[in-house]
Amino acid sequence: MEMEKIQTEVVVVGSGPGGATVARDLTLQGKKVTILEWGEDNPPTGTTFGGIKNYMGGWAFLGLKRGALVSKELTLMVRNITTGGTSMMFCGTAYDPDPEMWERFGFTLEKESSEIRDELRVGPLPDRLIGPGAARIMAAALELGYPWHKLSKFINPENCIPNCNECSMGCKHAGKWHAREWVLDAVQQGAALLTKTYVEKVLQEGGIAVGVLAKGPGGKRYEIRARQVVISAGGVGSPQILLRSGITGAGTNFFIDPFQMVCGVFDQPVNAKGEALMVTGMHLKQEGIMFADMCYNFSLFAIMAGQFWYKFPPTHKYRSTLPVMVKIRDEMAGRIPAKGMISKPLTSADRDKLDQGTAIAARILKQAGARSFWKTGISAAHPGGTCRMGAVVDANLQTEIKNCYVCDASVIPVPFGIPPTLTVLSLARRLSNHLLGRN
Ligand SMILES: Cc1cc2nc3c(=O)[nH]c(=O)nc-3n(C[C@H](O)[C@H](O)[C@H](O)COP(=O)(O)OP(=O)(O)OC[C@H]3O[C@@H](n4cnc5c(N)ncnc54)[C@H](O)[C@@H]3O)c2cc1C
Repeated sequence: MEMEKIQTEVVVVGSGPGGATVARDLTLQGKKVTILEWGEDNPPTGTTFGGIKNYMGGWAFLGLKRGALVSKELTLMVRNITTGGTSMMFCGTAYDPDPEMWERFGFTLEKESSEIRDELRVGPLPDRLIGPGAARIMAAALELGYPWHKLSKFINPENCIPNCNECSMGCKHAGKWHAREWVLDAVQQGAALLTKTYVEKVLQEGGIAVGVLAKGPGGKRYEIRARQVVISAGGVGSPQILLRSGITGAGTNFFIDPFQMVCGVFDQPVNAKGEALMVTGMHLKQEGIMFADMCYNFSLFAIMAGQFWYKFPPTHKYRSTLPVMVKIRDEMAGRIPAKGMISKPLTSADRDKLDQGTAIAARILKQAGARSFWKTGISAAHPGGTCRMGAVVDANLQTEIKNCYVCDASVIPVPFGIPPTLTVLSLARRLSNHLLGRN
């Protein structure tokens, strides 16, 4: 098949929070940017059907090897393959970057994160948007002396609707921010967006990146030539592209921030129809465990419970159930190959941490009045560490291939355990400034 050649200044691979930020920042400063996105462009619908389609990355093979990934060890990992990346379905909780994580590389991300917080008006939600389930869990945790509090959100309270619960299926009310907004800003300012376009590898001449090779709809081949290449294909996608480009150190030291829901069952209905998720919680940094309310609507609740079908979870008690999410900072173990199945073992230390978190969540739910408990299987939604700074990229996010940068959750250098999006956005803002010669 004939190869179409495109010439641009900067090519950005992937349109999640990392890619969208760099593409928008550079386009707004007059650079000619081309964004290549594997998924389709799906405006958010707020429906279960639309949400699952993005989780699957389309319906081919029921999404396996695309949005939904199962490791050799049978851990389920989810991402979104669509314009805006995984932010289309994320819960919109914002955690500040940890300065200690970056200090050894000579920066802190404080300036960048505060800029983004202001730009997106990140902050806790007003009481009227905190659902009854979250409020009850928070009250019980505080009675027990835990440092539970309202979490900061990428949500504009003016557009957010009480008890709506569509964040995780794609907010259609312009309440929750997602990276597609920034992709569309870039396109409006002149960036080109090619969707359904899968990047295979980085093109290089004499150790310098000169573009990428990609496959578009119908198997059409593209050679996109650019002076700078930014790979933002996420914690799984980016190491695969680097491995296919000859960077053999990518794909190891993998974290996923595994989580499970501890569900408290009450005598009376407590959760009428779901509410905004992860609006309150706490992070026990020393222990590496994070907790949050997770009062799903019925369809998400049934999907979570369905993973545990063989233990007959009491799904019919949905209205009397309050779930608390327990998420841990797992050890960096496992491997993403260029092709074939991912390996992600959970170590015994990881399992001990999940047990410790489960015990705390059950204590809080008991204080709230729950009579019995069950927990879902283990899933993960934060793949990262696979192109880590200090090993695969330098402090400016550049790889061993000159002019080829990586900018997404894969560059996080150490085990993580908290929502990563504000960190990814801040790293991307820093990279934009670097590419514009500002730092
Ligand atoms: C259910 C859920 C809830 C979450 N909630 C939160 C939360 O509340 N707060 C938070 O901070 N984080 C949350 N996250 C995590 C957050 O969404 C991700 O950490 C964030 O989106 C990572 O951004 P990224 O740019 O690294 O990658 P992604 O957002 O995954 O973007 C990568 C993009 O690259 C594309 N791509 C991949 N491979 C290729 C290729 N070869 N060629 C072209 N394109 C490619 C993908 O289609 C995708 O669009 C949640 C995740 C999930 C699944």
